[in-house]
Amino acid sequence: MSKSKSSESVKVVVRCRPMNEKERAAKYESVVSVDVKLGQIIVRNPRESSGNELPKIFTFDAVYGWNSKQLEMYDETFRPLVESVLLGFNGTIFAYGQTGTGKTYTMEGVRNDPEKRGVIPNSFEHIFTHISRSQNQQYLVRASYLEIYQEEIRDLLSKDQSRRLELRERPDTGVYVKDLSSFVTKSVREIEHVMNVGNQNRSVGATNMNEHSSRSHAIFVITVECSELGVDGENHIRVGKLNLVDLAGSERQTKTGAQGERLKEATKINLSLSALGNVISALVDGRSSHIPYRDSKLTRLLQDSLGGNARTVMVANIGPASYNVEETLTTLRYSNRAKNIKNKPRINEDPKDALLREFQEEIARLKAQLQKRSGKKKRRRLRRRAGEGSDDEGLESGETEDDEEDGDDKGDYWREQQEKLEKERKAILDDHSLVAEEKARLLKEKEKKMEDLRKEREAGEKLAAKVKAMESKLLVGGKNIVDHTNEQQRMLEQKRQEIAEQKRREREMQQQMESRDEETLELKETYTSLQQEVDIKTKKLKKLFSKLQSVKAEIQDLQEAHINERQEMEQIQNELTRDLKLKHLIIENFIPLEEKNKIVNRAFFDEEPEEWKMKPITRIEDDHQMMSRPRSAVGYWRPLSHHARVAMMLKPDMRYKAENIIMLDMDIPARTTKEYQEPVIAPKLAAALEDALRDEDEIEVDASSFHSSLGQMLPASASGSLKKPKSGRPRTGKKSSTPTSSYSPSSPGSPLYPQSRGLVPK
Ligand code: ADP
Ligand code: MG
Repeated sequence: MSKSKSSESVKVVVRCRPMNEKERAAKYESVVSVDVKLGQIIVRNPRESSGNELPKIFTFDAVYGWNSKQLEMYDETFRPLVESVLLGFNGTIFAYGQTGTGKTYTMEGVRNDPEKRGVIPNSFEHIFTHISRSQNQQYLVRASYLEIYQEEIRDLLSKDQSRRLELRERPDTGVYVKDLSSFVTKSVREIEHVMNVGNQNRSVGATNMNEHSSRSHAIFVITVECSELGVDGENHIRVGKLNLVDLAGSERQTKTGAQGERLKEATKINLSLSALGNVISALVDGRSSHIPYRDSKLTRLLQDSLGGNARTVMVANIGPASYNVEETLTTLRYSNRAKNIKNKPRINEDPKDALLREFQEEIARLKAQLQKRSGKKKRRRLRRRAGEGSDDEGLESGETEDDEEDGDDKGDYWREQQEKLEKERKAILDDHSLVAEEKARLLKEKEKKMEDLRKEREAGEKLAAKVKAMESKLLVGGKNIVDHTNEQQRMLEQKRQEIAEQKRREREMQQQMESRDEETLELKETYTSLQQEVDIKTKKLKKLFSKLQSVKAEIQDLQEAHINERQEMEQIQNELTRDLKLKHLIIENFIPLEEKNKIVNRAFFDEEPEEWKMKPITRIEDDHQMMSRPRSAVGYWRPLSHHARVAMMLKPDMRYKAENIIMLDMDIPARTTKEYQEPVIAPKLAAALEDALRDEDEIEVDASSFHSSLGQMLPASASGSLKKPKSGRPRTGKKSSTPTSSYSPSSPGSPLYPQSRGLVPK
């Protein structure tokens, strides 16, 4: 499976971004110089300009300066990787570096500017162009997009953004994200859409996009499956998976002096990155047999990309300004180590979980179904043509023969059948010899047949549409291969690739020469005189001495970095220990020993989701008995204190009710109406009325004084003249509808009152 000869190193390239506006305005020095030819990054120490500290030199597979072009970088570094993904290898591209150094710029770039598009969009173009030019191959491309933030995995393409996904492992296919959605894409436009949706979700979930993106890892996954007829006459499927990873900012989150909760949060954020560092160290070390992949989600998910079955390119992004020099050096050291990781990539042929195979099988199944349908029809038709009862074998062969013309035939067949049925129906209608009942029955029968025919047809059409939809997802190329411009473009690309390859080889040679120079210096030299020997050896000594110095400085730097890291870790450890002590204190003082032991016995570590869980409480582990109830709970649902029990008995207070909190007494509804009460008449008015009712001749009531105080309550008869109280009923009929008639006689200037219907006497 993995022979040593097929192993290859992780490719590491460094890209230094230009100074930004702010840095230029603040007049920061640039301390980074880039030697593209030699593939070297040279970092000066800004503090010691006197020159006694030598610049630090790092060599990489390729380096890119501030004026590097996206496309140039793609052709040189990423194209070969994506190309191998198309052949069925796994590939991974990491962007590593401090926040603001151009990771996202390298991976995504500027969306609307074709010159500044990053690796991800360029790879879309590359993949689909490759497919369109392929021949006799079938492709299926799908994309997923996920994010790891504070050790939680979020699917950026799912509708429910609050859901967190879990990692799972299968012995045959390795680690995968459970329930991660993936979309089959048929064109550049479609896959771009997928990316945009994911990016939108990424920023929606974040309160502060900048901070969020600097603390989360985004992974865009493209899976390319390709099916091709092998030499053995069988279809073989190759599956290549491309991981495009925009890592969180590599700056230490603890630098800002975070403490307590914030510190812990910071460690969680850094966990994946430091785990990545540890994995790299362990891989490079060669001595450690244990690689701590399981320490973080990121390293677990990308296990294959680090020392496994994948081709990997790491882009280290750095900034040139002097104030970033520490981070820059850390980044360079980190990626310098990664150079030594050995991967063992291989082509993934015929994996079990290839979606393409599933698609092909499903299409074949549907097609068979469709054929069976049309076969049935044809058989029926043929039978009809040949007359009932002809031999079946002959028909079978006939069926297979005209299989191909099936498509065109179908429409005719349906029409034919329909017309025939229609005709028969008419014939029945016209046939006067039939009894009406019989006629109705026959008609019904025919109608049912027509309905059946329609249904069958619909089902067939549906099936055909499904087959078509599935087939459309499988991409086949070879159409525009003859296209002239396409051909030219291809040539151009090839040339570009050749140039890139040339450059790469030149660089490699230069690097080799450089290193060989030193080794062979000694061998070549023969000395003519003692003095010359002294001179040359002094020169050499000087050279070696300076080398020694730089190595020493490097060692010192590393030690310092190491000490810093250790101090940080110790600080975190102290925090955690303090936390642990507090928890212990609580447990010791507030939880009975017995209970504690029970919980300790029940707790176990579940490997799969990697968390502690509790065994169910009902059984004691060894003897399979029911657990005895605690004494405080005998007879109750749950343990109760003595006080609560007493209180429960004394008063029916809900607070102490542990069970039966439903009250079962009948609930008499409260009354919402009132008894009828007679209207109360104001005493003054009552007196006046009484007076008025006594005898009409005797009294003269001047009611004008009530006007203001009684207002509308006053009946018209009372306000006007109480001279005709014969019936006791005020005259509110037609007559009194004109207010003037009642008021004017006694008080012509009085205000108009609305006419009330008056009081109803008993
Ligand atoms: P990161 O993702 O590492 O935090 P970004 O990719 O967001 O950093 O880059 C920060 C800024 O620097 C952006 O405005 C980007 O356009 C600019 N930038 C980064 N690299 C380059 C480059 N090589 N050329 C031009 N501008 C760059
Ligand atoms: Mg970014």
